[in-house]
Amino acid sequence: MHRMPAVFVGHGNPMNAIEDNRYHASWQRLGAALPRPRAIVCVSAHWETRGVYLTGASRPETIHDFYGFPAELFAVQYPAPGDPVLARDVAGLLGDIEPRVHLDAGHGFDHGMWSVLRGMYPAADIPTIQLSLDATRSGGRHYELAQRLAPLRDEGVLIVGSGNIVHNLGLFRFHDRTVPAWASAFQRQVNELIEQHDHAALCRYESLGEYAALAIPSAEHYLPLLYVLAAQADDDALSFFNDEVASSLSMTSLIVGQDVQL
Ligand code: ZN
Repeated sequence: MHRMPAVFVGHGNPMNAIEDNRYHASWQRLGAALPRPRAIVCVSAHWETRGVYLTGASRPETIHDFYGFPAELFAVQYPAPGDPVLARDVAGLLGDIEPRVHLDAGHGFDHGMWSVLRGMYPAADIPTIQLSLDATRSGGRHYELAQRLAPLRDEGVLIVGSGNIVHNLGLFRFHDRTVPAWASAFQRQVNELIEQHDHAALCRYESLGEYAALAIPSAEHYLPLLYVLAAQADDDALSFFNDEVASSLSMTSLIVGQDVQL
């Protein structure tokens, strides 16, 4: 079976799920450009836990985990099937960690997952599970865990990380998308490290210079990137898309394992 690529997608505003904009359009093109996966494992910024959890339901519900958005967004359903068998397999791959991996049959799909997958796979017909972010782990320990998922690529499973590399909502100005110098400098620095395959430096994101604390005031939107990098083989192609910063948020996204120009 063809080795699946892995993708990190900057998801940005939840409205990207339903707006006819260039981000949503790029996700549609991405879904069409990739080989069709047998299943998807998604790590989203919007599911943080203590310990590691996997969605275990066969029909996970759609979670609307945001406030102050139009009713149209709250009405979105993304009825992709779960995959409890894959969830158990992934728990096995993650191995004997402390605390042990939990399958959560009550947890649904969050908008970090469905805003992107709704664009990529609008038919919602690919079995999908979500893996939570264990908030007690350092970047390096997330990366170690994520490396254990890399073999899934050889089984037709698409690994999707959904977050934003630069994500400072406190400084975000919706009506003034001027890009602060620190935000573009930090994104450039991260892109260079990705291109140099310097994953060790990217795991120690807190130490990436004076702008790291501004770009990553909390880690949850950055960490899904590490799950994609950890699945990258040395000879994998690498391509970026949506590589842009608006105000204090970057939409930079990347594909490893396939050269795709979107
Ligand atoms: Zn988000």
